[in-house]
Order: sequence, then C-alpha cells, then structure tokens
Amino acid sequence: MNLILLGAPGAGKGTQARRLQDAHGLVQLSTGDMLRAAVAAGSEVGQKAKAIMDAGQLVSDDIMIAMIADRIVQPDCKNGFILDGFPRTTAQAEALDGMLAEKGLKLDHVIEMKVDEEELVERVKGRYSCAKCGAGYHDRFQQPKVDGVCDSCGGTEFKRRADDNEETVRARLVAYREQTAPILPYYRGKGVLTSVDGMAEIDEVTRQIEAVIR
Ligand code: ADP
Ligand code: ADP
Ligand code: ZN
Repeated sequence: MNLILLGAPGAGKGTQARRLQDAHGLVQLSTGDMLRAAVAAGSEVGQKAKAIMDAGQLVSDDIMIAMIADRIVQPDCKNGFILDGFPRTTAQAEALDGMLAEKGLKLDHVIEMKVDEEELVERVKGRYSCAKCGAGYHDRFQQPKVDGVCDSCGGTEFKRRADDNEETVRARLVAYREQTAPILPYYRGKGVLTSVDGMAEIDEVTRQIEAVIR
C-alpha cells in the first residue's frame, strides 16, 4: 500500500506516519527528515537546502524529485510507503505519477489532514522530539508520560527544529497555501483523495485514517 499524507506544517503528518509505519509495516518517507540529515551531513544538497529551509521556502523540485526517485526503489519500500512532506508542488505530484507508472506502482490513498492555521502555529511552536529515536512530542499537546523521559526509548535528550519558530512557520504556511494546496484538486480528480479532521485528538485522527485505508 502506498500512501500520501498531505497537510500544512504541524498538521500531524509525521505523528500519524510513524504510527502507520509501526502498525502496517510501511516505511515513512519524510523529505523534511531527509533534508535535515543532508544538512547535518554537510552534503552538496544539504548546503543548498539549508538557507531555503531556514527561510521557510521550498527546496527546488529537481532536488526533491531526485531524492524521492532514489528512495522509493530501495528494498525497504517493497511493502509500501507513506510519503510525508512530498509532493509539495504540482510539478512534484506529476513527477511522482511518472515514477510510479514506470515502476508499475500505484497510489492507494492521498489523505488530507485539515487543521486551522492558528492551531498549526501553536503545534509547530511547541514541537520537539527525542534526540535518540526521533519520537515526536509537544509542550502541551503530547507530553512524555514521565517528564523529561522519552516514552519510546527512555532517552532524556530532546531537540527542536531551527525552523519551528513563529516567523518561519508563517512563511511555511504561505508556501503551503500557494504551492502545495493546489495539488489537492489534482488528486481529487484522480479519485484518490480523502480528507480527515486533523483538529481531532491524535488517537481519533489515527482512527479516521485507519478507516480510510482499511
Ligand atoms: P507535521 O509532520 O505535519 O509537520 P507533526 O506530526 O510533527 O506535524 O505534529 C506537529 C506537532 O503537533 C507535534 O509536536 C505533535 O506532537 C503535535 N500533534 C500532532 N498531532 C496532533 C493532534 N491531533 N492534536 C494535537 N497535537 C498534535
Ligand atoms: P513540516 O513537517 O513542518 O511540514 P517538513 O519537515 O516536511 O516540515 O519540511 C521542512 C522544510 O524542508 C520545508 O519547509 C521545506 O523547506 C523543505 N522541504 C521538505 N519537503 C519538501 C518538498 N517536498 N519540496 C520542497 N521543499 C521541501
Ligand atoms: Zn526516544
């Protein structure tokens, strides 16, 4: 099964993709995580992407399409994948269709996660994650069971993203509205798009997504 989770920054894509990965043996392909790894490694792509990401703008289609084309042919994608953060432009959506057709693969569902803008800003500002295993948390909405200790791995170090501040998130929301939201009609036209209520509690959002893919 191949899925796309589509939604603005903070909509809950990463949170739900992790759950789907664990529950269904799919692999989560987060282009944001891939880019952050490239930045940390200081690779050529990372060097190009860093300033763009810090400004809340989109990295070029050429780079992103090449990144996903390399990734979906890896053996761990055999059982299916969940795209989290890709595609983000019409050009990326069209390129993805081409890649899948070439490999005889198809998209089963595109799931839109709808969340109000002010809620998105609150979610992004309070977001942090475990430095060891990457599990996601929020200052108010998703706290670890034991204060300062990761539920998943017991780690005690956490990190925040450089771009998770109010100013950058506003720019990212504009990018979403102007460049990413236009791909919704594209998928609606193909009959694969379903929307879920991303404002609901995390478990409820999971239930809604499970109902779509079942
Ligand atoms: P995205 O990957 O779409 O940017 P995340 O999954 O990282 O979003 O979620 C953003 C932040 O909001 C995280 O801190 C996460 O813990 C929190 N969060 C995710 N889903 C919900 C939800 N349904 N209700 C409240 N907070 C949520
Ligand atoms: P969020 O989880 O908040 O939606 P991501 O981690 O997906 O954010 O992306 C972080 C940044 O990485 C984006 O603001 C953008 O600069 C870049 N990025 C990630 N995926 C893409 C993509 N498919 N196309 C262009 N830029 C991307
Ligand atoms: Zn952890």
